[in-house]
Amino acid sequence: MRTPLIAGNWKMNGSLALVERFGEAFSQPEVRLPDGIDIALMVPAPYLEAARRAFSAGPLAFGGQTLHHERHGAFTGEISGAMLAEFGATYVLVGHSERRTLFGEDDAAVCARVKAALTERLTPVLCLGETLEERDAGRTEAVVLGQLEAVFDALSPEERDRLVIAYEPVWAIGTGRTATPEQAQAVHAALRARLADYDAGLAEGMRLLYGGSMKAANAAELLAQPDIDGGLIGGASLQVDDFLVICQSA
Ligand code: PEP
Repeated sequence: MRTPLIAGNWKMNGSLALVERFGEAFSQPEVRLPDGIDIALMVPAPYLEAARRAFSAGPLAFGGQTLHHERHGAFTGEISGAMLAEFGATYVLVGHSERRTLFGEDDAAVCARVKAALTERLTPVLCLGETLEERDAGRTEAVVLGQLEAVFDALSPEERDRLVIAYEPVWAIGTGRTATPEQAQAVHAALRARLADYDAGLAEGMRLLYGGSMKAANAAELLAQPDIDGGLIGGASLQVDDFLVICQSA
């Protein structure tokens, strides 16, 4: 059985006060969470230390939203995996569509970042997804499987086992337009089938998250799909109550 992962992506949002609010809310003894799920918030880098303090008593893990592929050096404005790990982060998003489109991260850059994350013992959450144009052209599987292979072909079997994958159709991110459970399940099944070409055990154990306008109202039916093992949640991860409901739907 795969352990579900509910991961929030705050993007460039939030505040110190919000970090504290989440820490308090999730530490309340009366909060009921399903047994055996993982929960993490990917906070902006300046809030890592606050997250370390605020989340230490509760079930929330935390992570970064990107990392540079080098450990240190003359890369003004960048953050390394070693720095994330030093602050207690255990996850990092890699290849989010906003990084790919707004910051020019191509498959090679994504692959280098995944390797850097693994070197620092962080769990990379590799984000994949097609644009609306690509979906309308019937290229969804070709695009997402290509993004998967660009990374997995470059990893050893041991490294592959340490990733989490998030399928995030670009047309559903921040748009309020969610993939239907059937659309999401179809892509997840295709991803798992491709992983089985690498190794049956890899496919069986890999956590495949869905991301794209997941919210309290639609989480349960998405998470009920057999190949959806959790969610990557943007907007709704900024509201304590909504995020709690999503966690309770896992
Ligand atoms: C995301 O940023 O990864 C995301 C899925 O955002 P939203 O939930 O707001 O669509």
